[in-house]
Amino acid sequence: MDDARLQNADILIVDDEPLNLTLLQKILHSAGYTRLRSTTEPRKVMDLLGEKEPDIILLDLQMPHLDGFALLQQLKQRNPPNSYLPILVLTADAMPQTKMRALSSGAHDFLTKPFSPAEVVQRVANLLQTRQLHLEVRRQNHNLEEQVAERTKELEKALSDLKETQDKAIQQERLNAFGTMATGITHDFNNALSVILGYCEVALIECEGKMRRNELETHIQTIMTAGLDASRMIKRLREFYRPQAKDEPRTVLALNDVVQQAVATTKPKWHAESLGADILIDIETDLAEIPSILADASELRDALMNLIFNAVDAMPKGGVLRLSTKFVNNRVVLQLRDNGIGMPEEVRRHCLEPFFTTKGEAGTGLGLAMVYGIVDRHGGTLEIESTPGLGTTFIISFPPVLEEQIKGVKPAPRRTRPLTILIADDQPEMCAIMSNHLLNDGHKVRAVMDGKPALEAIGGGKFDLLITDHVMPGMSGKQLAAAVKEISPETRVILLTSMAERPAASASRVVDRALTKPVSLVDLRRAIAEVMTDSVAPGMPAIA
Ligand code: ADP
Ligand code: MG
Repeated sequence: MDDARLQNADILIVDDEPLNLTLLQKILHSAGYTRLRSTTEPRKVMDLLGEKEPDIILLDLQMPHLDGFALLQQLKQRNPPNSYLPILVLTADAMPQTKMRALSSGAHDFLTKPFSPAEVVQRVANLLQTRQLHLEVRRQNHNLEEQVAERTKELEKALSDLKETQDKAIQQERLNAFGTMATGITHDFNNALSVILGYCEVALIECEGKMRRNELETHIQTIMTAGLDASRMIKRLREFYRPQAKDEPRTVLALNDVVQQAVATTKPKWHAESLGADILIDIETDLAEIPSILADASELRDALMNLIFNAVDAMPKGGVLRLSTKFVNNRVVLQLRDNGIGMPEEVRRHCLEPFFTTKGEAGTGLGLAMVYGIVDRHGGTLEIESTPGLGTTFIISFPPVLEEQIKGVKPAPRRTRPLTILIADDQPEMCAIMSNHLLNDGHKVRAVMDGKPALEAIGGGKFDLLITDHVMPGMSGKQLAAAVKEISPETRVILLTSMAERPAASASRVVDRALTKPVSLVDLRRAIAEVMTDSVAPGMPAIA
């Protein structure tokens, strides 16, 4: 222990004889100690201790009012058991029993008067050194305790992180299992449906010219309609978990634009006027400058619209939905924060699963499953934070588009200019679905149920494109196509064929493109983009 540190010690001297005090002060002073306090009044000792804790007390035994033994007793009670405040007792009474009594009452060392100055200095130094060591041990113990506490905290955090990762892994696993199941079911189911729908079409062709045709035809049509419904259902299910296809239509896209479009498109659902006067839902956007992403705009828009509808549902008394974008950690992050009812933990954990809904009859439970599938296929991640009563935040992140990806991207099928399209299909549902899709994409659409009205329409106006079913009651799709090309050679034709026909057989000089039913929106858009580019001249053989 270095002397400088020892000499910095605070020393308290208690002796009723002022001459003794002066002598001790002198001795200690000349040994280098500067922080000396002293008193001749033993009853003041406790106050002095209260002012500042000394490092050592030099204590006389025989004093009036309160002798050294009584003070030792008080000190014993005052000082905590694990502390070490050395007390050096000084006395003229050299009797062994006095020494013993003092030592057993809490004194640490003992000096008999008259004392040698050198011995005083040495004993004080020894005691101070012990105190220093004691303080050092205490300090280290304290540090150790702090370190243990800190480490414990770190371990607790690691444990909770681990648990969260585990939860996520379990959820991912569950979604994967749903995906595998959905893929298996859709595959087998689709095969069965192909046969049903295919033979329906064959049967319809055979119906032509037969007796009781109308009745039989109606039955077959009914079977077909049900089959097509099932096919659409299966397709939706498949949409959630299908892996990203190689030729998925991807464009270099500004996510901020998609956000704005989704907000604008959903406005009728959340705007004050449509909700009634006493409910106010506000949608705020905070869109930062972000890199483009590689995505399918319509899929992303669908996902966003679903999230917006959910948020609106979650704010039955009104509220604020805030959509923000930013670029962090090399990810394009989109956040949707509502201050609605929030989700209990159990709901949060299951909400991405298909058919999970808390809305009873009003919900399908397919919205978030679809959102998850879309985000996943875009290489994105989806996280949900929610507090019941406070609201929910969906955090979606995408990788930014890379320089080399930009070159390889096909122009989006959606980029076709607005077209005037004629649909000919004898199934009203098919007409409705396709019209709806195409109208959404900004085209002008007219739908008819047979060849004759189709030809009248073509004769009466200019159409860029005819999308026709092959099997129709009055005229086949190919017959219609041939007639249309006679009247209006520049009109392109997309023929929808059934699964029972061989695709090669459908391609002909009058058909620009043949598609096998059921046709997805993505396929339809791509086919439109392909037949409408100038590289495909009217009347050329189909690309199929
Ligand atoms: P649906 O809306 O048909 O119920 P979703 O898959 O879209 O199906 O949502 C599943 C469930 O997740 C909802 O029923 C609801 O309980 C919960 N949920 C989704 N979004 C929110 C939200 N923003 N706030 C609170 N709960 C939500
Ligand atoms: Mg929903």
